[in-house]
Amino acid sequence: MPISCTLIPGDGIGPDITDATVRILDAVGAPFAWDIQLAGMAAVHAHNNPMPDATLESIRRTKLALKGPLETPVGEGFRSVNVALRKTFDLFANVRPAQVILPGGRFDKVDIVLVRENTEGLYAGLEHYIKIGEDEKAAAESIALITRLGSERVIRYAFEYALAHGRRKITLVHKANILKYSQGLFRSIGQQVAKEYEGRVVYDERIVDACAMQLVIKPEQFDMLVTTNLFGDILSDLVSGLVGGLGLAPGANIGAHAAIFEAVHGTAPDIAGQGIANPSALVFAACLMLEHVGERALGARIHHAVNATLREGRTLTRDLGGSASTSQFADAVIARLLA
Ligand code: NAD
Repeated sequence: MPISCTLIPGDGIGPDITDATVRILDAVGAPFAWDIQLAGMAAVHAHNNPMPDATLESIRRTKLALKGPLETPVGEGFRSVNVALRKTFDLFANVRPAQVILPGGRFDKVDIVLVRENTEGLYAGLEHYIKIGEDEKAAAESIALITRLGSERVIRYAFEYALAHGRRKITLVHKANILKYSQGLFRSIGQQVAKEYEGRVVYDERIVDACAMQLVIKPEQFDMLVTTNLFGDILSDLVSGLVGGLGLAPGANIGAHAAIFEAVHGTAPDIAGQGIANPSALVFAACLMLEHVGERALGARIHHAVNATLREGRTLTRDLGGSASTSQFADAVIARLLA
């Protein structure tokens, strides 16, 4: 039985990398029936709406989406569609595995899974301007909302992920020394949940600034990280930088009733339309999606083929020092899978 999956090509390099990813999946008979939908700028151009009802209805029906990156205007303009999708479908856990694939970089042994709370914190969307005198925008306030429910479910998800994937240690990253209420709550819930997993998963804590420094100096000491929304956003890009850049980092947005898989990177406007983006991150995201639907072996096979193509080094995209196009890279992966 084919599995219905919403496919959002996205903006910028999105259509190129989704096309490459779908070709690779289709080549090995991955069981997806694609329902192609628009979001982001592509949807603004087509329907004057960055998040059309048809796209939301499709995800509501399939409960599964593979998504290219979406452009968000900086400052003024519509709110991030990515954030809106996470909130609409209550995709509370953002899982970002990062592993060294290409030897010879700064580190050889980094293998970190970062679990980021995805719906609360400073990204809860609780923002407003404060008028003082005649100045409508004399000040601005953004509220970092941390709830017991939101913290507990994402921390528990991280522990369950650790058990399911043979991970040994979780480091909770916080700033409870300064933000004693919001970050303090997240940290104390971490300590409570950790007790339930004592003897099975080691629990550790770091203050976010120290953690950023230690990630750059000695990342091998970390196994899994769990943290609040903003810290997770920043640290996951940092971690992807440790293992070869954004072109290789996938992400899964997991909720109780839907899951959306994507690359960590954005629309890469500097190289959009040139057909030279690296599709690996989105292909890896598709591998996470295969695992999610119970096709772990197929996901592992594709992951292995991408890794081998990257390590062989003959068909690399420009971000990794090669000159291959997006579709040439996909062809090389397909050739390896079908060999
Ligand atoms: P970006 O990730 O798009 O690009 C950062 C740098 O990495 C650029 O130099 C880019 O060329 C390079 N890069 C990224 N992906 C690559 C790939 N697959 N292959 C080769 N090089 C790659 O970040 P940005 O420029 O800060 O953001 C651009 C837009 O993307 C913004 O509108 C932002 O809001 C959006 N964005 C969307 C998502 C998402 O949809 N999940 C995530 C991040 C940013």
